[in-house]
Amino acid sequence: MLNLFITYKCNLSCDYCFVHGLGQLHPMSISDADFQRLCVWLAEHQVPTLGILGGEPTLDKRLPDMLARLHDIGVAPVVFTNALFESSESRIGDDLSLALKPKENDELISALCKHAANIVVNYNDPTNYSEIQIKRRESNLQKLQERGAHITFSKNFAPGDTEWQYLIDACRRFGVNAIRYDISRPNLNRTNSYINSSAYESKCADDIQICNSSQSIKQLQDNMKSHLVASHDGTSRHINDHIVEFVRACEQASIMTGLDCCLPSCMFTTEQLQYLHATSLRFTHVCQPSIDIQTDLQVSYCMPLAQFALSNVLDYNGEWELMAGLSSMAKPLREKRPLACEACEHYAKSCQGGCLALRASDVCV
Ligand code: SF4
Ligand code: SF4
Ligand code: SF4
Repeated sequence: MLNLFITYKCNLSCDYCFVHGLGQLHPMSISDADFQRLCVWLAEHQVPTLGILGGEPTLDKRLPDMLARLHDIGVAPVVFTNALFESSESRIGDDLSLALKPKENDELISALCKHAANIVVNYNDPTNYSEIQIKRRESNLQKLQERGAHITFSKNFAPGDTEWQYLIDACRRFGVNAIRYDISRPNLNRTNSYINSSAYESKCADDIQICNSSQSIKQLQDNMKSHLVASHDGTSRHINDHIVEFVRACEQASIMTGLDCCLPSCMFTTEQLQYLHATSLRFTHVCQPSIDIQTDLQVSYCMPLAQFALSNVLDYNGEWELMAGLSSMAKPLREKRPLACEACEHYAKSCQGGCLALRASDVCV
């Protein structure tokens, strides 16, 4: 699926956000003219689905019209939101310039229900929100549910953010039966809180013996520490165990789970791998370009690898040409075999050796 980032503005500040900083490299929001040009291109190339992201896309007051326009040209939009939008009538505090008038708020909810094929709600742990934000999110979800919107939740496992029971409870409250999940990935400048999935445990220790770059040694040591991720109760557990327990709990509650990106296979035990492959959708160890269209129509491999970019989506002959261009751009990085994977029979077959964005600096050969 192609993704369009309509704005980098957001009304939340998640530690793990991989979008921070992009507003300095591209316009803060897409222009009307570029959106119209993109619509012509999408129709011409019969693109069936488009992810609409930000930042927080509901902060862009043009969103209802954009969704209607996409619907008119036969593109099914999937909107990614934190569901914190609100009307100026109900607001208490925060930035007034971001508030919607009550009529605009109604139009937004109507457009989401009418035109969005799916609304993917980034539903973080309630301990990260103020009371007002929690009320606002719950009220919006209730309105969406009452009006028949198709909702999926999204969970990002990040350092210090590994709880998931609150999500299962929310699925019950709002009749949601699907959760998309991932580990937090690095942003372009590595300034966010992310989980390093590039090299693991004893393999890293061996690598330290043969690495001759002091910067790489430090990175590998950081990797070793990062396998243990702190939980709210103050204990540390391996991230793979958190993921497996989460998927099992979802399965027991009849909630479908789908992995967003790929994870290295040696992150899991053989038994865990068998279980996840059988239970979790898109559970894979090799990534494909996410095809992220920035606000100026530049197209990136994915946000963590935003530097791997094609200059303008309109210059390409459809989704497959973009996929091919971005894949070939990332090929040299993909072919740089991490030291941790040197003797691994899975490398370049069933596993790519972790997130390519991390490899950009982790490889020490
Ligand atoms: S992850 Fe999403 S909701 Fe959180 S700060 Fe980033 S754009 Fe906003
Ligand atoms: S290629 Fe092998 S060693 Fe490297 S991350 Fe994948 S499973 Fe682990
Ligand atoms: S490089 Fe690949 S694994 Fe890493 S975030 Fe991008 S798409 Fe996902």
